[in-house]
Order: sequence, then structure tokens, then C-alpha cells
Amino acid sequence: MRSKINTEITTVARSLRSHRTPHSDSARNSAIHSDHFPVERGAHGQVRSNLNKPLRIMKFGGTSVGDASCITKVIDIIRAALYERDIVVVVSAMRGVTNQLIEAAVQSEAGNRETVAQIFAGLRKQHDTAVDALIHSDDGRNRIRLQMQELFQEGERLCQGTTLLHELTPRVRDSISSLGERLSAPLIASALAESGVVSDCIEATELVVTDSYHGGAEPWMDLTRARSEARLRPLLRQGVVAVVTGFIGATEEGVLTTLGRGGSDYSATILGAALDADDVIIWTDVDGLLTADPHLVPEACSIPKISYREAAELAYFGAKVIHPKALHPMMKSGIPVSIRNTFAPDKSGTQITPTGPANGRGITALTAIRDAALIIVGGPGLLGVQDVLGRTFATTAAVRTDVLMISQSSSQNDVCLVVSSSQAKRTIEALRHEFAHDLAHEKVEHITVDSTVAIVTVVGQKERGMSGIVGRTFGALCRENIEVIAIAHGASACNISFVVAEKDMKAALVAAHREFHLGELNSPVLPTGSSDRSATWFYESGASTDAD
Ligand code: ADP
Ligand code: ASP
Ligand code: MG
Repeated sequence: MRSKINTEITTVARSLRSHRTPHSDSARNSAIHSDHFPVERGAHGQVRSNLNKPLRIMKFGGTSVGDASCITKVIDIIRAALYERDIVVVVSAMRGVTNQLIEAAVQSEAGNRETVAQIFAGLRKQHDTAVDALIHSDDGRNRIRLQMQELFQEGERLCQGTTLLHELTPRVRDSISSLGERLSAPLIASALAESGVVSDCIEATELVVTDSYHGGAEPWMDLTRARSEARLRPLLRQGVVAVVTGFIGATEEGVLTTLGRGGSDYSATILGAALDADDVIIWTDVDGLLTADPHLVPEACSIPKISYREAAELAYFGAKVIHPKALHPMMKSGIPVSIRNTFAPDKSGTQITPTGPANGRGITALTAIRDAALIIVGGPGLLGVQDVLGRTFATTAAVRTDVLMISQSSSQNDVCLVVSSSQAKRTIEALRHEFAHDLAHEKVEHITVDSTVAIVTVVGQKERGMSGIVGRTFGALCRENIEVIAIAHGASACNISFVVAEKDMKAALVAAHREFHLGELNSPVLPTGSSDRSATWFYESGASTDAD
């Protein structure tokens, strides 16, 4: 018995240890090389891109590649775009797959082998069904099945190792959660090949070089640029469409990392900057960046044009449609980013540009973060504690917590921070450790956390005047009997954030959306006090005409 377990541990440990950049064999073997297909466009109707066309990065999210019928739409969009552009495709995992993989990792650590087996069985079924519907040639089907089988086995070995060690390290968690993209990219490359597009699946571990912060790695842009040029440019010259795994990267030493949840948007803009692309399109399941999350505010409508700055604020404060860091790589180069709907490709969606529309309006949109936690470092003794703010923020920075909101009472009795719920535990532990001495001597009375709150943020253009917005928002919330727990108004930023009870979040959004007439597409919404009621609102400038 013992020797069986030892062998199992050795095998698994080897697999965990050797789990470096996985691209080397699997991706290359799986690549749908051009020699697999006729080189010239002809009887098979192959689509090849040509030299000197503008370069576009197109990223498709989980819902867009959710099943075979969605992937068929994706293929149509890529084929249409290829007539005018060179394309690099970035894909997410199929819908729900990353969540399932993370669940498998967590259940493995807890020792629930049966649950893990069920999860993998479900994932195999989901992918098999898509392969059957999309890949018709025996050759193509066998190749992709074999490749997927290897990936599933790799995932199962990682989960077995986690179960045996009773420990889920951040590195292994990244490796397990990366499987979704490593499965979807070859599937989509194969489906493209079936439709006659010469394509090659590339694992982003070959392209995106990151630091070693697992679960939220940051790219090293110079190295990423060099690798992307070396690997992708020759493919572009040959007219091959690269299908790149979103979400993942690797350290310089080749250890796989992930960019954080929802990180495929970031992958797309990192590659856009690395290749100096002409534009980036994020294809998703809604008509662009909307005035609010349409799942919470049904009246929300699409914003045709918006500045990097405002879009970044919206993303940071919860507009999940674009990853909060996705615009960072664009800022230097000014590359435009569009957000468009895979299921309504004729709509032009939202165009995000350095300055946004010429004629803006006071309020652009509302956003919310449901999973927020309010942390209070407080007590009357706080006044006597040296450098409370400095120590608080040095501590949050050390554990890489994104502080979403800060407010401090004037008597300095309380420092309030709002962070994402997923970061609350590690933040509070780190703060208690930092202030342990002060807590023991009652200089700091408490460090508490309330995880039943949400942040609602109003985003607009500072230069259009944000005064009056606070009063109007308060008034609207008050009429709905919604209590505002805390408020933060950036001195230079174009946002105002309110903390409310999580149960009030939806009602708060609906009330503020109505107050600012955000659902009225053609009505100018100017800040209170402005007499310029005739100012042309930015819809005048129209949506992008750059439809494929
Ligand atoms: P993908 O799978 O394409 O990456 P996501 O689920 O990450 O898509 O993001 C799209 C979702 O973002 C939408 O379905 C919508 O519910 C949500 N969302 C939140 N705020 C906004 C907003 N302001 N505009 C558009 N979508 C938003
Ligand atoms: N699949 C990853 C996630 O679900 C990345 C992404 O979809 O952008 O977080
Ligand atoms: Mg997303």
C-alpha cells in the first residue's frame, strides 16, 4: 500500500515539478500547420490574409466560445475580418470552464476525489460535444481529441498531486485554471481550419513574459514584445491566423502564470501593444460598454465612444465587460479598443480612444462591485499611533490588495478601506499583524470587516463638472430609502463612489440611472447648473464606421 502511494506521490511530484511552460510539445504538435492545407486559395476556398494589411487583435470571451454554435459565429466574424485585415485571435476558455477548473483544484485540496472526477467528466463532455459538432474530418477530430486527452490528463495529475499533498499552491492553481484556454484555443484553431482558414494555435506562455505573481501576474513588456514579434510576425507574414490562449503567460524561466480572472482582455491588449496593432476588438455577449450592467439595469444602453480614462474607471469599479488592467498597455500607444457583441456583429458597439468623444456629458455610466468588503481600522487611540495611513497602505500593497475606496473620519478615529471580498481575508490578517502591537496596547481598538456591502460608482468627465452629482445621487437613493454607508469623491478622478448595503445595490443603480436619464439615448445629460442644454451629446459623432 505504502509503496503504491509512494509511487503515486513520485509520479505526481514529478508532474508538479516539471510543470513548466507546457507549450513546447503539445501546442506545436497540435498546430494546424499550413502544410496540412492547400497553400493557395482555390478549390477549398481557403482564406489567407495578405501582407501589409492593418493588424487587428480580436479577443473572444467565454460566452462567445461557449458552445459549437457560438464558435461558428466566431469563425464567421474572423473570416469576414480577414478580407481587410491581418488578425491575431485571443480566446478565453469555454463558458464556465475556468470556474469548474478552480472548483476542481479547491476540491482536490479538500480531498474530494469523487467531486473532482465528476468535474473532469463534465468538462470532457462539454469539449467532446463541441469537437463533434465543429470538426468533421476524421484526421482533424482525432488530432484534437488526442490533444485534449493529454491536457485533461495533465489537469487530473495536477489535481491528484494537490490531493496527496493537501495543498493547493498558487502555482498549481494557475496551472489547473489555465487548462480552459489551453483546451479552447486548439479547438477554435481546428474549427477555423475546417472552415478553410490557415491557423495555428499558440500558447501565450510562448509570448507573454510575466513576473512570478501567480493569480495576477504582470507582463514584462520588452520581453513580451520581442517574443511576440519573433513568434507571431512570421505567421502573419505567411497569412496564418494565430489563435492565442488568453489569460496566461509564463515567467522568464518558463513557469506558467495567469493574469487574474477575466484576464483574456488583458492578454489581447498586451499583444496589441507588443505587436503595435492597429486596433483591438473585445468580442463579448453585450453591445459594448453600457451605461450600466444590463443584467442589473435593463434600461442600460450602449455608449458609442468613451475615453480610455473613463472606460478604465468603469472597469476598475466593476464593469466586468473589460478587465481593469486591459487599457494600461494601450495608454502609451493610443491604440483604439472596441467592445462588440459576437451575437450582434452588425452593431458597432463601443469605441475606446485616448480622449473619447469631443462633446461629452457629465455622467457617462454607473457601475457596481457586489463582492466588496468594508475594512475599518479604528478607535479613539488611533490619533496617537504613528503613521497609521502609511502603515495601512504599505500593508495592503505588500499583499497586493487593490484598495477600491478609502475614507477617513476627520478626527482620524477610523480609516475605512473597501476591498474586493476575495482579498478581504488576506488584507485583514496582514493588517492585524501590522498593528498587533498597537492592538495589544489599545491604541488601535479594532480592525473589523463587513462583507455585506457593495460599491456603486458614478463615472463621468471631470471637466464637464461633477458638482451637483453627489446631491442628485443622494437624493435619488434617499427617495428609495437606501442608506449611504460611505462616500469617496476623487479630487482629480472622474468618479464618485458610494458604499451601500449589498441588498440595496440593484435598487441604487436603477435609481441613479433614472436620475441621470442614462437610458435616454439621445437626450443630453448635463451636470446640474449647466445652461448648455443644447450642447451636442457625443452620439452626434456617431458610432465607429469601421464595421467588418
Ligand atoms: P466575456 O466572457 O466576453 O469576457 P464577461 O462576462 O467577462 O464577458 O463580461 C461581459 C459582462 O459584463 C456582460 O454580460 C455584463 O453582464 C457585464 N457588465 C457589467 N457592467 C457592464 C457595463 N457597464 N457594460 C457592459 N457590460 C457590463
Ligand atoms: N477564463 C478566464 C476566466 O474565466 C479568463 C477570461 O475569461 O478572461 O477568468
Ligand atoms: Mg471577461
